[in-house]
Amino acid sequence: MDFRKRFVAKKKSFRLTDHDPDDTAGFDDEAVAGEQARENTQKLEKLQSVLYAEHKRAILIVLQGMDAAGKDGTIKHVMSGVNPQGCQVTAFKQPSHEELDHDFLWRIHKAMPPRGDIGIFNRSHYEDVLVVRVHNLAPKEVWSDRFRQIREFEDMLYRNQVVILKFFLNISKAEQEKRFQARVGDPDRNWKSSDADFTERKFWSEYQDAYQDAIQKTSRAHAPWYVIPSNHKWFRNMAISAIIVDAMKELNLRYPVLPEAKKPTGKPA
Ligand code: ATP
Ligand code: MG
Repeated sequence: MDFRKRFVAKKKSFRLTDHDPDDTAGFDDEAVAGEQARENTQKLEKLQSVLYAEHKRAILIVLQGMDAAGKDGTIKHVMSGVNPQGCQVTAFKQPSHEELDHDFLWRIHKAMPPRGDIGIFNRSHYEDVLVVRVHNLAPKEVWSDRFRQIREFEDMLYRNQVVILKFFLNISKAEQEKRFQARVGDPDRNWKSSDADFTERKFWSEYQDAYQDAIQKTSRAHAPWYVIPSNHKWFRNMAISAIIVDAMKELNLRYPVLPEAKKPTGKPA
């Protein structure tokens, strides 16, 4: 199955409501999906090692979603096989005073993965057209101009050999409630809950509108958004790992070939 084709957000016609968070693309066997996801992580491990050796391109994976959508779980699962040396995760929280004194992309650009690496953003520059919009943290003329700025920024990255893959982890409001309740009742996980999570839930439909707009305005061939049905964690993991593997395969990554003169002879120089 070509998960990229199935879940990519097509720019013009994109409607979030057309995407069912419960969709499993015909898969119904969790064990089979789990096996596929494991195979994908093994492939990813190999691809990453060539990406690192080739040292020409970087992969940027952006993860966005409502609280409890599974951003942390995705990172843990999908990246389980990759060498930590070539991978970095950045979580974007509320901006600091210093960050707020710069343009909104300043902290983002600083966190870009270098050539050869995979960078994962747990939240991202998209917060500046999501939470900022929903809570009026900036006037409309400020946040609405950011769609263009984001497109231009991502164009620049693309022209500098950064491969961008953006994932929206799509859960339903009912599934979020279920996960919140499960967290609260679990002593090992209730540290993850905060009253703020429950407050944000009140803005569910405002967030859906903001996501709809952001995805529609910024999904392009070289910086696509994938809307991943995420009510089922096993499906989410399989789909995301498959998409990353397919995108990396397409790069035709190659180990560097040393010119004859530079090949080591095995003797001291
Ligand atoms: P978890 O709750 O799983 O630890 P999280 O990403 O939700 O992870 P929190 O510390 O709970 O982490 O929340 C970070 C908060 O920072 C989110 O509410 C997010 O919307 C907010 N945030 C991120 N970027 C910005 C931004 N540019 N402007 C304002 N708020 C932001
Ligand atoms: Mg949180």
